[in-house]
Order: sequence, then C-alpha cells, then structure tokens
Amino acid sequence: MLALDSPRRCLPTVPRTRPTSRPLPSIPRPLSCKACKTCITSCNAELPLSAIPPESPSFRGFSGKASLFTETYNVTLSTPKMELMSSGAYRLSEITCTKCTAYLGYKIVRAFEKSESWKESRFLLELAELENPWLDSSDSEDSS
Ligand SMILES: [Zn+2]
Repeated sequence: MLALDSPRRCLPTVPRTRPTSRPLPSIPRPLSCKACKTCITSCNAELPLSAIPPESPSFRGFSGKASLFTETYNVTLSTPKMELMSSGAYRLSEITCTKCTAYLGYKIVRAFEKSESWKESRFLLELAELENPWLDSSDSEDSS
C-alpha cells in the first residue's frame, strides 16, 4: 500500500546532521588511542609532505615524535592558550581522548610567526600516544 495522504511522492528525508556517535563506516587506515583503542584519526588525514615546507624540521610533540593531521575524531580540545616554541609563538589547544582523556597532542589554533601559518588549524598528534600500525615510526631516513 502506498501512502494515501501525500499527493506527491517524497523520498524519505535523510538526517544529514545527526551527530555521529561512531566513526564513519570506512575510515581508511585508522589511528587509534593507544589507551582505549578509540579511533582518533586516519593516516589519510596526515598532512601530505607536499603541504609541508621543505625547510621545516620534523615535528616533535612534548613527548616525542609527532605528525600533523587535518582531521581528528573523538577528541576533546582544551581552551586555547599561548605557548612559546622554538619556531615562534602559538596558540594551542590540548587534544585529549574523549573516551579515556589521555593526552594525544595539540591543535595549532594560531601561529603568530608568518612562516608557520601553514600549521594553523592542524592537529599535531603524538605518535607515541597512538596505535599506529600504518605509520612507519622508525627513524630511517626517507629519501624524497
Ligand atoms: Zn583513549
């Protein structure tokens, strides 16, 4: 039986802005929180080398090697605060896992050094805090 009270056929509306309580179905090559295995980001969200100025030194988080990402999931951002780094002043938000509140890295909200502005709104994640079967975290020299 078709609906009798609607003269036009309407496709059911798809709720597009429903809050996603679980990660998108196909996050390719996910990187998860080491402590609780929650998906935090994906290798595909890692900032491509082409977006990184060649003269830029490799990133370090506060506790070790880190990488910049364009997207994160299931994280909580703290209120941004100023930090003075070797490459200039930044306004940073600490990133913690929504589920287990483990520290994961920080978001670069604002870079005050003009040459560093490409880092703005990127997520710097500590690789040591992520389950990263996909990222080669060895210190082998990568020839480009
Ligand atoms: Zn966690």
